[in-house]
Amino acid sequence: MGVDATTLANWLSSYDCDSITIGVVASHSSLQILHGARMEGFRTLGIAVGENRRRFYSAFPGAEPDEWLMLDDYREMLDHAEWFRERNVIIIPHGSLVEYLGAENFRNLEVPTFGNRGILYWESSRARQREWLQAGGCTLPKIIDNPHDIDGPVIIKYAGAKGGEGYFIARDYRDFRRNVNLEEEFTIQEYVLGCRYYMHFFFDPTATDGFQVQGRGELAGKNLGRLELMSMDRRDESNVDEFYKLGSLRDLREMALEPSFVVTGNQPVVIRESLLPRAFEMAEGTVSASFELEENARGMLGPFCLEAIVTDKLEFKIFEISARIVAGSKPFIGGSPYSDINEPFMSTGRRIARCLRKALNQGNILDIIS
Ligand code: ATP
Repeated sequence: MGVDATTLANWLSSYDCDSITIGVVASHSSLQILHGARMEGFRTLGIAVGENRRRFYSAFPGAEPDEWLMLDDYREMLDHAEWFRERNVIIIPHGSLVEYLGAENFRNLEVPTFGNRGILYWESSRARQREWLQAGGCTLPKIIDNPHDIDGPVIIKYAGAKGGEGYFIARDYRDFRRNVNLEEEFTIQEYVLGCRYYMHFFFDPTATDGFQVQGRGELAGKNLGRLELMSMDRRDESNVDEFYKLGSLRDLREMALEPSFVVTGNQPVVIRESLLPRAFEMAEGTVSASFELEENARGMLGPFCLEAIVTDKLEFKIFEISARIVAGSKPFIGGSPYSDINEPFMSTGRRIARCLRKALNQGNILDIIS
């Protein structure tokens, strides 16, 4: 399903491209998106449920939306499609929007949306992500199919869990059995010991300069677009980040405590510079492989994040990809040590708005929306 190219072109033909409004659900990374949109001269629309949510934005006048759409439930966005289009709205998606609407509703939302909504099908399942990342040449943590084969630390991840909720570590089958909820679908992954880097990239298929991603297969020999590294963060995860303060894992078990991985915040980081070429190699592979994924001819588009652990052998293990703006880009509203090299004050939110602005000026907006 999803929105076909003809329908999209029809909608856009009735848009007044001189007065586009950037619409965003007031959550996740919306402050950055709204601020960035304003910096690129767009009108902005906030979509929210609950007066409290709206009021909070008055604390940030630099990002406060020009207009609000207040709803009782985010799914009402589906009924407001025409309302959005009458106001020349382009939606910028983020993790909360997809979660609030549901992946299928988001795919069918009848409003022009930045990026390629089709990629979400590949992002939404761990198995499909794995296939994609491996095709892109990324190295991944091992998967243990049979719990009886656990013979070292593993992490158990539930399908559909968000932000590490409910995940746990097991050292052997007994550990696994004691903690697992067999009612839920889960994956057992090798627990990789090392430091985490959440690398925020941006792929702009309309740019012909900079680091050009090389096409493969039918697209071999073609430059697909420009790949940029915007920033990097590390998540604060409660309570695993502070667990060590209470003693060894054994001490903690005696107190009936288990580490959990619930995201509570983000910190800016940079990576050892000699690791950047490999990081780019994997990001480039991931983008070029995205054009070969079944029913995804449009490939990757806009911001994405490779979530990595670097071991003491200086090897990357990519444990997840997010094919959209991630909340970890928020420490960089004023730019990052990477994006500042190219242009100061370029957040990922602003980079999205810049991409839209440029496409509007060049008349190729249909290349970057879905
Ligand atoms: P989100 O969708 O918000 O990115 P998620 O629920 O898909 O989160 P992951 O990102 O896969 O969860 O993992 C949550 C956390 O668990 C990671 O941030 C990391 O700290 C830890 N983690 C995940 N996989 C591994 C691994 N293989 N080895 C060690 N730690 C891991």
